[in-house]
Amino acid sequence: MARTKRNPCPEDECERTLRVRVRDKHIPWLRARARDVNFVWNYDQEVSLKVLAREGRFLSPEDLHEFTAGATKAGLELHSQTVQAVNEEYVRRRIQFRARRLRWRVSDRQRSNYSLGWVPFKAVALQCRSKGVVRFMGQHIGFWDSYDLSQYHIRAGCFSEDARGRWYLNAVVRVKRAEKPAPAPTQDVGIDLGLKDLLATSDGIKVEAPRFYRDLEGQLASAQRAGKRDRVRAIHARIKHRRADHLHKLSRALVRDHDAIFVGNVNASALAKTRLGKSVLDAGWSAFRTQLRYKCHQARVVFEEVDEAGTTQTCSRCNSRTGPQGLEGLGIREWTCMECGAVHDRDVNSARLILAAGRRRLAEGILALPAKAAAEEAEGEEDVNSVPPAPYSLSGQYAAAAARGRDERRR
Ligand SMILES: [Zn+2]
Repeated sequence: MARTKRNPCPEDECERTLRVRVRDKHIPWLRARARDVNFVWNYDQEVSLKVLAREGRFLSPEDLHEFTAGATKAGLELHSQTVQAVNEEYVRRRIQFRARRLRWRVSDRQRSNYSLGWVPFKAVALQCRSKGVVRFMGQHIGFWDSYDLSQYHIRAGCFSEDARGRWYLNAVVRVKRAEKPAPAPTQDVGIDLGLKDLLATSDGIKVEAPRFYRDLEGQLASAQRAGKRDRVRAIHARIKHRRADHLHKLSRALVRDHDAIFVGNVNASALAKTRLGKSVLDAGWSAFRTQLRYKCHQARVVFEEVDEAGTTQTCSRCNSRTGPQGLEGLGIREWTCMECGAVHDRDVNSARLILAAGRRRLAEGILALPAKAAAEEAEGEEDVNSVPPAPYSLSGQYAAAAARGRDERRR
């Protein structure tokens, strides 16, 4: 979401987007606004392309503001700040995708390339003074207020539609970060992201990969064959919602129970293009890492991504490379180290190496400071055996999911 450069977050706060469902009775009005937004967007594209062809230059948001200055008086029912927000987003995306042109926005819901409704706004245009209602462009818009939005200062945001035709208010707010934690992390964890198991932790917990996509794949295919477009959209939305919900619960539990989290740097987008694509998307690694990163930031939990090259072949106990190698080795889940005789679960072993690497990285960070004590401590940390047993309990969904994963393997 748009983060204002001129007004950066103070150190003790961070930005979050709170998403709440708008009541359905406002849908016709919001759709009409989305239609106007699409008009502005497509107009932006038209002038941008014309100026590009004629003068060979790209328009800035300020240029577009000038072009659209009279738009709200000329019949478009939009707040002038919304028009500006559209202009800014148009330019931001064009730069982000390094594209001359973007997709046209399509307002006709019967078309297959229909653009899901979107109405951005800036802080001045929206007020939330009482629970469950915002005032926007003279309308009182009701919503299910799961966060009590009136407590927050809403800085920007948008109304948006999902594939099922439901509308949401996405409000960018600032929230306080946690108080500073103790200087040295005491409950740290390494996480190995996988396909069969979504993740394995250095203390031996495994969480099975959700199969939301594959579970509903059959239904999806038959809806597609029957040409039921609404049904297809609904299934896609359900998959997306279940996946997000699952990952949020997991990341929340992990951040709550640790003060340092280290994750391997698997390249999800590269893997998604391979044969394993659907599983990779289902696992939602990128989304999961993003969630961990911002939740750690807010909770002041250390978060580091570490290089996981070689973690499947190295023994986390004696550090020798005795693990399964090559293509045949890929399917091997459990192996015994020939040097020290340790029996390893492949993913847990990887997670332990990731934890060790993360600790070394932290120690190096401390080494950079002129502190001798820290240097001695760092040498102690070189010992990868010092992975502690889990001293904490995991509750709720996370533990249940972990337990399901364990049972699955026993069978
Ligand atoms: Zn070994």
